Amino acid sequence: MAENPKLAGTNIVDCIPQTGECPNHCAECFYNGGRFYRTLDEPLIPDAADVAGKLVRMNSGHDSNISRQLVVAVACEMRRRGAAGVFFNTSIPNFAFPGPVVFTCNGREPLFVDIPPHVMFVRVRCNTWDMTGQDALVEHYGKFAAPIVMTFMGYYNRESVPEAERPKYRWKVHVTNPYWRPTEAAILEVMGRYEGRGVRMCGTPASSFCRDCLNCEHLYWAAMRRCCYAPGYNVAGLSAHNDIGPALG
Ligand code: SF4
Repeated sequence: MAENPKLAGTNIVDCIPQTGECPNHCAECFYNGGRFYRTLDEPLIPDAADVAGKLVRMNSGHDSNISRQLVVAVACEMRRRGAAGVFFNTSIPNFAFPGPVVFTCNGREPLFVDIPPHVMFVRVRCNTWDMTGQDALVEHYGKFAAPIVMTFMGYYNRESVPEAERPKYRWKVHVTNPYWRPTEAAILEVMGRYEGRGVRMCGTPASSFCRDCLNCEHLYWAAMRRCCYAPGYNVAGLSAHNDIGPALG
């Protein structure tokens, strides 16, 4: 199986049961438009040798709430093939998954919703200029147990970056493709706003690679531990909050 270069050197593998572009069409998403590392014409279903002992990330780029029953069925199959755990990704506030789920709260419009303990983290798509919007999301989601992870967006078209902000951006390869990316100094300036509030970032100011970050691995297990202690959850994991399949553990 072709490895996602962003995941190289980690204990996570991708699984994407759907085919074609993601119908959510979030602005600047790396998945649609021919910039993903593999074809979208075929599902990505790793075999037992690929997933044994690993964490399986459902729907990098796509959305686990699209064709949700298929996604959950394939996630269960990943466990049968020996995966140590499975987690989901969505920008739609439906969290009925039998495992931890990463929630992107501003894929399109910003969403201010309540989140249950098995939300692994809340992902905020961020930039160097929308401080009012980003601050409001951090303020809201800071009330919940799940951590917040800021994802600094890259822009394929320079015009997408406001003129006054362009000195803070550089044309730079991000995993496989070049984008206008914020400089390290610009990233540190934004992150400095949230210092001491448990807010993390996706990657590091210097690296977009998961091996240099490991948030997803750490926060998967943190979510599983959190659910052990949350009313209505059990150690077998999340079955009380799953209406469509067995708990994945
Ligand atoms: S948060 Fe870290 S581990 Fe997760 S996708 Fe981003 S870079 Fe990778």
